[in-house]
Amino acid sequence: MILTGAGVSAESGLGTFRDVDGLWSEYDLEDVATPQGYARNPKLVLDFYNARRANLLSATPNKAHQALARLASQHDVTLITQNIDDLHERGGSDDVIHMHGSLVESLCTSCSDVRDWREEMTSDSTCPQCKTVGSIRPNVVWFGEMPYHMERIEQVLPDATLFVSIGTSGAVYPAAGYVAACKQFGIPTLELNLEPSDNAFLFDEGRYGPATDIVTRWVDEMILAKIGNA
Ligand code: NAD
Repeated sequence: MILTGAGVSAESGLGTFRDVDGLWSEYDLEDVATPQGYARNPKLVLDFYNARRANLLSATPNKAHQALARLASQHDVTLITQNIDDLHERGGSDDVIHMHGSLVESLCTSCSDVRDWREEMTSDSTCPQCKTVGSIRPNVVWFGEMPYHMERIEQVLPDATLFVSIGTSGAVYPAAGYVAACKQFGIPTLELNLEPSDNAFLFDEGRYGPATDIVTRWVDEMILAKIGNA
């Protein structure tokens, strides 16, 4: 079971959240990542995600995304991401659990329609399903909202044989709690991150450096070990 965060996409040019130069040094989380912020100023929120979507559409997957897709072609991998980008998919992974939703999808607050959406969103955007004007928001999970796919993750977790956390600061729950849950089930745990996260002390092992380097090396090791055991 692999959990990824913003760090896996950092070398593709997408900003992380809590690093010194991260998105939260420029924007107030309460303004752009809560339902209350959206109710107060929808234009600010839509513009924030429009800018991030435009940035994403010009970004490309990096070696870490590609390595994880390679791993899944050899091992039974459940890939869970907190990222709202689609770089895992574009890097070759085909079953990605997006617990915080997707920046390239819309959600209609009127009829709950979810669909692929790559253009700008404005307060005049019309829901293609129910035709309501102004009901379209990004299909991303904001603070105070329930993450997606919780049931599926809770089902998979106890059966994992290894839990690997990649490029996440371990600050946002429930994802931050998976390492402790895995330990309770006796599942070995590994952290791959630029630097030790807040939860580093909970992991059995930690390897630190840029994701394109350490993830690629770890995947190569896993694939070689499988070939060696075959
Ligand atoms: P984060 O910014 O908190 O942490 C990123 C981690 O990646 C850090 O530990 C950092 O050391 C590491 N890192 C940076 N560059 C790296 C690299 N090149 N290689 C490897 N690691 C690198 O991001 P997070 O942990 O993903 O945050 C948790 C989640 O909270 C986010 O993924 C996001 O879904 C959610 N969130 C969402 C919003 C929103 O807009 N809806 C707002 C805030 C947080």
